[in-house]
Amino acid sequence: MMDEMKAPPYDQFPGIAVCPTGPTQENPGYVPDEYPGKEGIVMPPTAPPLEMPPQGERMPLVDLGTLSDQDVREACRQFVSEHCCYGRRFIRDTLLPEIFNGCIYHYQLETFGEKRETVDRHEPFKGQYIDGPQNGIPPQPWDIQVPILSLFINSQVKVEIPHTAYVKQCGRCVGNCRVRCESCYGRGGSSCISCNGMGRRDGQQCTSCFGTGRRRCWNCSGSGQVKCGTCDGRGNLRHFKLLLVTWTNHVESYITHTFKLPKHLILEASGKEIFQEENPRVFPINHARDDSVNEASKIMIQKHSTAFPQELIRQQRIPSRVFFSRELLEEQTEN
Ligand SMILES: [Zn+2]
Ligand SMILES: [Zn+2]
Ligand SMILES: [Zn+2]
Repeated sequence: MMDEMKAPPYDQFPGIAVCPTGPTQENPGYVPDEYPGKEGIVMPPTAPPLEMPPQGERMPLVDLGTLSDQDVREACRQFVSEHCCYGRRFIRDTLLPEIFNGCIYHYQLETFGEKRETVDRHEPFKGQYIDGPQNGIPPQPWDIQVPILSLFINSQVKVEIPHTAYVKQCGRCVGNCRVRCESCYGRGGSSCISCNGMGRRDGQQCTSCFGTGRRRCWNCSGSGQVKCGTCDGRGNLRHFKLLLVTWTNHVESYITHTFKLPKHLILEASGKEIFQEENPRVFPINHARDDSVNEASKIMIQKHSTAFPQELIRQQRIPSRVFFSRELLEEQTEN
């Protein structure tokens, strides 16, 4: 019974690599993570590294059991009932001389990392309170308490760093509150295109410019200047430092073999969870029946321990699932 459950050796499935060795597409069992873009000055993690928790008692891997002749026919009946016009006769007539229980293992490693960046920001100064260095030394980015919004979900929060604010004259308008109008280049208007600036056309007063020969700029009403948008016409800016905290869940998957099933279907299917562990750091599994899963676990955890040098690892988890291979059963029934 136990031998029937064991997945066939991998060299029987050409093109399926044994385990991932890095972020490469060559291995069909490897699903790479997506890396987000960068912004600001990244602060390398300076928080003290977490103590490795002692490896506790492991949850045993759940046995999938085996499918009987009756189970297979019931599964086919279920499949047929979900599709109109599918016949049922083959379910009764097909002979099942031997049922081979194939398994697909999906091992997943999730590393939830936190990145901290600082960026300079400014806004119009409208007399708001200024929390500057006179109130104390600004804290270091990794010393600021920022609660995690939700574990294993990508998110970002922005926090103003205390005691970093100061007021400075607006550099764009040099404190004048107004800047040159870009629509008329500061001229306040342009010559009338209907009369070429003459004021008269065909011996009559030009109706477009009422004889002035000029058209007033719509943007600045002829003054040649507009309100400075940088300081909102205030002349001064409040500068401060902003802390961007970005949480990224790095997900990597290893699928033993797919029996011709598209990988995305396996990733979307619920399957049966046979193992789940969550800790600030997880240990490689070593008790999967399939040795390549144990090996993949070891390599992926090792890789993740150094793959995100700008992030502090907050939590890791390793959900693992297993699926029966329907494809294999169908091949058996055709023979
Ligand atoms: Zn300004
Ligand atoms: Zn005119
Ligand atoms: Zn203008």
